[in-house]
Formats: sequence, structure tokens, C-alpha cells
Amino acid sequence: MLKRNQYLLLAAFAVLLAILAHFSGRMAATPAFTFADERREVFLTFDDGPSTVVTGKILDTLQEENIKATFFVVGERVYGREKVLKRMVREGHTVGVHSQSHRYDKIYASAEALVGDVQACAKLIEETTGVAPKVYRFPGGGRHEREEEILQGLGYHIVWWNAVNGDAELTAPDAQTLAETALRTSKGKKRVVLLMHDRADCAATAEALPAIIKAFREEGCVFRAF
Ligand SMILES: [Zn+2]
Repeated sequence: MLKRNQYLLLAAFAVLLAILAHFSGRMAATPAFTFADERREVFLTFDDGPSTVVTGKILDTLQEENIKATFFVVGERVYGREKVLKRMVREGHTVGVHSQSHRYDKIYASAEALVGDVQACAKLIEETTGVAPKVYRFPGGGRHEREEEILQGLGYHIVWWNAVNGDAELTAPDAQTLAETALRTSKGKKRVVLLMHDRADCAATAEALPAIIKAFREEGCVFRAF
């Protein structure tokens, strides 16, 4: 037989358990909601590919890390590498239009020339992957108001960038320098659009990617594709 004060103790313990269960449920639910809301977004973007080895290595890393990225491709580099483009789509990445030729003298000769270049690249992407591209990045960046209007009218979402890993700006950078540049230029930005290149001469970019991903993850960022 339990004494009265033992019953009281049991009752008090049960109440305590109920309170803890209630609050732990709330605590689990609340941060999950606010955390998602406050998390920085990182868009990993790769221009000027596909290349055989570098793009392949980047895709391997993205697959291991379960991250989706965006590739702005050059049509003329797709020939002979159709498999690489198909793999991008199969693994859930976004393939965007960068250019058919990537030759500034040709594509920026007139608005019509630029639109023709975009449409040639888009047609090739659709024929190769079965998916019509919806995102576009201007070769060389910059603002091109008339062309922007035309392309938006054709349904393209135009993507610029606000951070770089430096693979186009620095001379023969090593992987560590690229990772540091990516983090430095992304600092303080809530929505990071990181420009990188998956060209054949950007092997260090593929090498730096795991460290870049790790650092953003440690900061609690989420990765998104366009
Ligand atoms: Zn480019």
C-alpha cells in the first residue's frame, strides 16, 4: 500500500511529465518553423559548361551532398557531351540558357542576334534533355535593358549573381582561395547567388566545391536551384 504522500508525489511527477511533454512538443515545432524562415538561401550556379571532367566531378559532389544546382550552358559545348546534360536533368538540376556561341561580338551585335542565340541554345537543351529551359544568364553579366524585356516577354527568368568564387577573376587560383573567395563575397547576404564555372580549365572549382558546401552548411544555409 502506498501512503498518501507517495500518491501525491506520483501525481506531481505525472503532472511534471505532462508539462515537459507539452513544452518539448512546442519547442520542437517552434524553431523548425522560425528557423526555416530565417535561413540563408544559397544558389550554386555554374556557367560556361558542360565540360566532360569538371562538370562530371561537380555533379558527383552535388549527388553525394544531395544538393540541386543551376547550370547555365553554352550550346556549342553540348555537342558530344549530351550525356552530361541529360545527367543534370535526371539528377534534378536546372539547366539554363547562357549562350549558343558565347561570342560577345556576335551575340551583342543586336537585340535580334542575342534573341537568336538564346533560342538556338534553348532549342538544343530541349532537344537533348526534353525540358525547355526557363532561366537565362547574360554572358559577361551587365544590364541590357531592351534584351531583358524581350527575353522576359519570351518567358525567361533572368539570373544575375551577387557572389563569386573567383574562378573567372583570379589567375590560376587554388581550391582554398576559391572557397575563401566564395565565402567572403557571400558574407552578409541573405540570398546568395554564387557564380562559378564548370569549364574544362576550372578544375579547381570542382575541387573547392565540397569545402564551400561544408562552410555554408555550418552556417545553416539551405541550397536551392532556380
Ligand atoms: Zn559565360
